[in-house]
Amino acid sequence: MKLFLGLALLLFCENVKAQKTILWCGRLIDGISSEVKSNMSVVVEKNRIVSVDNGWIQPQPGDITIDLKNATVTPGWIDMHVHLEHETNPNRYLETFTMNPADYAFQSVKFAEITLLSGFTTVRDLGGTGVNISLRNAINKGLIKGPRVYTAGRAIASTGGHADPTNGYRRELMGDPGPAQGVANGADECRKAVRQRYKEGSDLIKITATGGVLSVAKSATNPQFSEDELRAIVETARDYGFKVAVHAHGAEGMKRAIRAGVHSIEHGTNMDDEAIALFKQYGTWYVPTLTAGGAVADSAKKPGYYPDLVTPKALEIGPKIKATFAKAYKAGVKIAFGTDAGVFKHGKNWLEFIYMIEGGMPAMEAIKSATIHAADLLGEKEQLGSIEKGKLADIVAVDGNPLSDPRAFGRVIFVMKDGVIYKNEKPTSR
Ligand SMILES: [Zn+2]
Repeated sequence: MKLFLGLALLLFCENVKAQKTILWCGRLIDGISSEVKSNMSVVVEKNRIVSVDNGWIQPQPGDITIDLKNATVTPGWIDMHVHLEHETNPNRYLETFTMNPADYAFQSVKFAEITLLSGFTTVRDLGGTGVNISLRNAINKGLIKGPRVYTAGRAIASTGGHADPTNGYRRELMGDPGPAQGVANGADECRKAVRQRYKEGSDLIKITATGGVLSVAKSATNPQFSEDELRAIVETARDYGFKVAVHAHGAEGMKRAIRAGVHSIEHGTNMDDEAIALFKQYGTWYVPTLTAGGAVADSAKKPGYYPDLVTPKALEIGPKIKATFAKAYKAGVKIAFGTDAGVFKHGKNWLEFIYMIEGGMPAMEAIKSATIHAADLLGEKEQLGSIEKGKLADIVAVDGNPLSDPRAFGRVIFVMKDGVIYKNEKPTSR
């Protein structure tokens, strides 16, 4: 009996080992080619893509077949700018006093799952309280469902800068936060702040090089780090293998950051011709966050939604980003998809595709910005960002054809991350 059970278990294991998942794809956008391929099969074994073939590959016993003949299949989407710990609401500023880390943790579980099920299999979390590091770990352990998370942990700002966590507090609560809290002044503190992120388990560095819209401070555009501080951050980040993502609306802060050798500029609102030339000279990536720009301008129109200092900045900066994006794209600046989700509702990240297309980028290019180009900025081009033999199996499918109907980006019917299926619904259209 024991021998029989052992033999059965062995056969069962063999079977599991051999099991493949075959995706029959009516339309396949692989992230590399600009052509849409018709009637293709993508074969997945464990967490890897093992082949991409013409026609319908027939299953062997034990294989699973997923019929996506009426769908468009693309690599899993990558959002280079989200904040999974929170989501906009009129009490957001009060929440810094009322919410405990556990409260952030529980809500981030929900936001992570929504993000994954809307087709985003990888994200960069560009700043929170540090709970985003535990969130990443819980996802990686399989405790909860969410995208692959590359997290910055806490963002780094100068005193009173955009990411200073005590902006707008009354005096005795303000204190004097330092590198541990993500506030750094002078080259030495900047180095310490980067090393502190390493100690805490961040995957990359996020800094705020200019003022921002949603911080309780006067300017959205003033430069907030000096060149020597920026160079100290970039050099130290390099020692630890960190990429540096930079929040910047104002042109001066943006230019200083690019010259210091950072990897991406987020928002980039007041990018001028000189800044565009620097982007191209240094090969710096631009992450536009058009969805956030529109959303903050809309929220600012609701009386009392934001503090008084924030409202005029939201009304001024928000609507400008789209024109900046159009100009940057035309000029040939490298663009990676990023939304700033959390500043608007999680799961609506796909709206960025619509705004990019409206801004003059062809839908196929927008898809590449959210797949192979984003993977390039992450430094994970060998593993992620395309549907090719040997890559990690991060695959999504939408109902319909997003090239002719961009609203299809909002109709995700299939999500696979790391070879595991998280969503599999029947398409409703052809
Ligand atoms: Zn952000």
